[in-house]
Amino acid sequence: MSENVSSLLYLVSGVLFILALRGLSHPTTSRQGNLYGMIGMGIAILTTLVGHAPSGVGAWFLVLLGLGIGGGAGAVIAKRVPMTAMPQLVAAFHSLVGLAAVAVAAGALYAPQAFGILENGHIHKQSLFEMGLGVAIGAITFTGSVIAFLKLDGRMSGKPIMLPQRHAINIVLAIVLVALLAGFIGGESKVLFWLIVILSFVLGGLLIIPIGGADMPVVVSMLNSYSGWAAAGIGFTLGNLALIITGALVGSSGAILSYIMCHAMNRSFISVILGGFGGDAAAASGGGQVETRPVKQGSADDAAFIMKNAEKVIIVPGYGMAVAQAQHSLREMADQLKKAGVDIKYAIHPVAGRMPGHMNVLLAEANVPYDEVHELEDINGEFPQADVAFVIGANDVTNPAAKTDPQSPIYGMPILDVERAKTVLFIKRGMGSGYAGVENEVFFRDNTMMLFGDAKKVVDEIVKNL
Ligand code: NAP
Repeated sequence: MSENVSSLLYLVSGVLFILALRGLSHPTTSRQGNLYGMIGMGIAILTTLVGHAPSGVGAWFLVLLGLGIGGGAGAVIAKRVPMTAMPQLVAAFHSLVGLAAVAVAAGALYAPQAFGILENGHIHKQSLFEMGLGVAIGAITFTGSVIAFLKLDGRMSGKPIMLPQRHAINIVLAIVLVALLAGFIGGESKVLFWLIVILSFVLGGLLIIPIGGADMPVVVSMLNSYSGWAAAGIGFTLGNLALIITGALVGSSGAILSYIMCHAMNRSFISVILGGFGGDAAAASGGGQVETRPVKQGSADDAAFIMKNAEKVIIVPGYGMAVAQAQHSLREMADQLKKAGVDIKYAIHPVAGRMPGHMNVLLAEANVPYDEVHELEDINGEFPQADVAFVIGANDVTNPAAKTDPQSPIYGMPILDVERAKTVLFIKRGMGSGYAGVENEVFFRDNTMMLFGDAKKVVDEIVKNL
């Protein structure tokens, strides 16, 4: 295949990836977006295989084996993973992108002739620069993503781990890393290459351990961006246009998403990039203490009565709805209430659940009409006019401590002002705290009624009582 034809095909796959990103920005077009992405990736893989056809049966066997194992494992894992575990899956996959960047760079260093990057027996300086940068970002992404995976999967405490002098340590390590990179580019040393890898592995871990659970969504999105830049860097080394385009798209879309999320959570973008931004406030998190103050408790019957007589109900879904898979029962409840003339709206917090868009996906799955689903900034002003805020499995995203307690790990995050509704109904199994491990004052307010139980079971009961 000529260079021009393969460049053209890579360009086509790049355009398909852009269309995929556009499609994925809304639930109505997300399936189509996914399809564009798959076609784009198919074209990119075929073009690479045909353009750089492996020589000999053994090489083909290795390539197909890699595709089979990777593709097969990816398909099985994606099919089996519950929606609630999607963020840790994404973090785990990012770690593989980072590790792949390290492996490709090592391959290029040890067999530069195979990559066409030799000049008079030495690797081009430019290639060494790209390799050095790609491998450093890749290694940081790898350990950073592994830590994010362990935290999100509950295998490691979600609480921030604060090393003394962590900022100073990170700065010193970063300076040493730059010096090693300069030495590697100047001297093509394999020892320096592996020192860069080891140091970047350490730095990746150090950047993520101080970050608390509530800030994790931004971290996952940031690591997504890092993995894209690592891929783009390696794309330059390989001279592969598709990898450069895809890496740049992933890198910039991840950075834009992180920026939007930082904005939504009132965090500083720069401190996220530098790591440890959950900071000292997060360290003060009490985390999951048992609360003994009395709360007002109600039954499904009470809830059905209150909502049937309401004019306006705003539903606030959260992580617990996802755990209970209560979205279908919830839509049934909303349908019944609408038939009784109640105005129903859904309020979605940008980080409700465990990944961006988590609630939107679940509600779409239950065929909730899109025009009933509203973002935080559009609906927050409507709570004072609502008769009922129906909070199903949400906690942190309704916690006023985010506005009032500078020591709270969620301080600064905008919240849904559910307590301003006439009545607040909370469905949850007990008095357990949310992801950030902090108590929610709204449970104890006079206008709050707790409905204890599994979200699906309680909603099914409410539907019966309606
Ligand atoms: P949350 O604060 O984690 O609270 C969820 C609540 O659901 C818990 O208090 C729990 O209380 C209840 N629950 C769990 N299982 C339940 C079930 N089967 N039935 C009924 N209730 C159940 O959730 P959130 O309000 O959605 O806030 C999301 C949090 O996750 C934020 O802190 C956010 O920063 C963080 N986060 C978000 C993302 C993202 O991208 N969206 C990613 C990672 C982390 P009980 O135990 O008492 O039932």
